[in-house]
Amino acid sequence: PYAELSNYFKSVEGMNYGELKSLTNASFALSETVQCTFLAIQSDPFAPGSQLRVSCPCPFQLEKVLQSSDLESCAPCRRVAAEDYILRCFHEGHRHGVARYRSGALQVMRPSQHVLERSTVALVRGDRGSKGVEVHLFARLKLPGHGRRIDGRGAISIIYEELLPIMERCVVGLDEERLYQHVTCVHDQEHLRGELRAAGCVAFVANGSVLPRESGESDRPLAKGAVPFTSPASLERTFQLPYSGTTVTGMGLPHGLTLIAGGGFHGKSTLLRALEVGVYNHVPDDGRVYVVVDSTAVKIRAEDRRSINGVDISPFINNLPFQKTTTSFVTSDASGSTSQAANIMEALELGSRLLLLDEDTCATNLMYRDDLMQQLVPREQEPITPFVERVTDLIQNHGMSAVMVIGGSGQYFPHATVTLVMNSYNAHDCTARAQEIASTSMASVPLFEKGRSAFVSPMQRRFDGNGTFCTVQCRKGRDSIKVSGVGVDSIRFAEENIDLSLVEQIVEEGQVNAIAQCLAMLYDGEADGAEAMFAKGKSSQMVYSPVGGGEPRSVPFYSDFSALIEGCDATLREARLEARTPSCYLPRGFTSAARRFEIGAALNRLRTLRTFT
Ligand code: ADP
Ligand code: MG
Repeated sequence: PYAELSNYFKSVEGMNYGELKSLTNASFALSETVQCTFLAIQSDPFAPGSQLRVSCPCPFQLEKVLQSSDLESCAPCRRVAAEDYILRCFHEGHRHGVARYRSGALQVMRPSQHVLERSTVALVRGDRGSKGVEVHLFARLKLPGHGRRIDGRGAISIIYEELLPIMERCVVGLDEERLYQHVTCVHDQEHLRGELRAAGCVAFVANGSVLPRESGESDRPLAKGAVPFTSPASLERTFQLPYSGTTVTGMGLPHGLTLIAGGGFHGKSTLLRALEVGVYNHVPDDGRVYVVVDSTAVKIRAEDRRSINGVDISPFINNLPFQKTTTSFVTSDASGSTSQAANIMEALELGSRLLLLDEDTCATNLMYRDDLMQQLVPREQEPITPFVERVTDLIQNHGMSAVMVIGGSGQYFPHATVTLVMNSYNAHDCTARAQEIASTSMASVPLFEKGRSAFVSPMQRRFDGNGTFCTVQCRKGRDSIKVSGVGVDSIRFAEENIDLSLVEQIVEEGQVNAIAQCLAMLYDGEADGAEAMFAKGKSSQMVYSPVGGGEPRSVPFYSDFSALIEGCDATLREARLEARTPSCYLPRGFTSAARRFEIGAALNRLRTLRTFT
């Protein structure tokens, strides 16, 4: 009874490749538990692979793993964690040689170290069995050919000796106890992140965490010689992990400004990098599982040469030569300081409450200005107000926080709530010493007037759909544009290239596909579409989180532009990450959830972007 598909391939052996089109939408039982459905068939053996959905009954007890008997009422992060685990089991099948055969013809999206909602594996209510929950796994399969003829035997090997054993052994036969641990660990991470605010913290790093990575290429933990993290006693906090029934102790960074100082090569950037990805949950053996930060944390850096449209950078830059306005700044080629100022303002606009900065990648003239330079170049001649003169305004008037790596200047000491010094990978609390140094120093401390803010809220910026897309259309004609993700670094938008290589919190290819889908939705929806996205974002009180589910929106700054981004995000998430609009046609199963910050970052970097202010 399970030979129907292999009989089919035997019968078409050597026939014209086009014959395979008849498989479209056909389903076959490959074994008692595994079934496959062809969703789309490639037109020739050299085209991108055919699309396939492989399914099996849910291989674990819902009640135990999801803590709920149905998919709709469980905590979303539990469902996402279970789906993530199944995907990893599938990939392990290849690594551990479960398949007798490795064709390279089977493509399934690879997960990063982070547990994100993805369209690759879905637990869905199926129509067979009494419990009725099924696993759907979406893959691409290059059906082989001999020239333009069908290679039926090759197809049989791939499906019956590669795909089927992996599904049976690794997915149907998955280790339920390990799955349970995985889901519990993710739920605890999610819980811990949610506890931060009430505890007055913006970040937490558990004792024992392994922060350094294997190499610049690999995001796996450093296996040998890593110094585990230990909190300074003064910053130590303990939190409950209710799902595993344990507690975790580590360093809690309070609301306000935290400096990470210390000599070169002592582990400052490594700590900050762990915080940057602390907006995501990780796999249990990652080393950074209980390193969590406020979910709205955004990494800020200089990014010269990017384009900027309609951003109010006047809190940082004013009175530019040639009377260029900075309240609605436009450039196609930003400098280090203007790009960093725009990155800060755009993060605020999209709802960030925590900025992360590393001096290695910051524009020095936007960060500080010392006394000697002020004597040479008087204030009136300097368009830049450095971050050091604005950070307290953001903290006190707008509830913002910042964590900064600063090794080269003491100008921030008076503003810092906590000053850490990294020494041989160990963190020391040197707050008191830094304050003492600051109070006895002769250098003038920038003034801060309480109550008066340089930042205007809400921000005034609206998306101009016609203006943005008309140049694209004129060149290509309305219907035929193509939007697609290229690796983790860029998006092709018709003829335009959106450079995302310096948007550092994008962690996997699937997220770029999610962003590409959002941009395509805006384009394909035309004027009404953008209006509808905007209305959707404006009316919603929740924002989606990349781990599944959402959280209430509570942000200091906001604009119509950010409502639009939230609307796109919500629309894509409601479609379970498969929007399937004409301009961005992706195969099923290759999308991961992105945050609104990264979606907004891409639109902000589209060189044809036009806005109203
Ligand atoms: P800094 O920013 O202070 O100059 P980095 O964070 O770049 O230093 O770290 C320098 C090197 O030390 C990197 O190669 C990093 O992988 C390694 N490293 C960082 N933290 C640790 C640690 N806790 N244990 C072992 N090696 C570490
Ligand atoms: Mg560094």
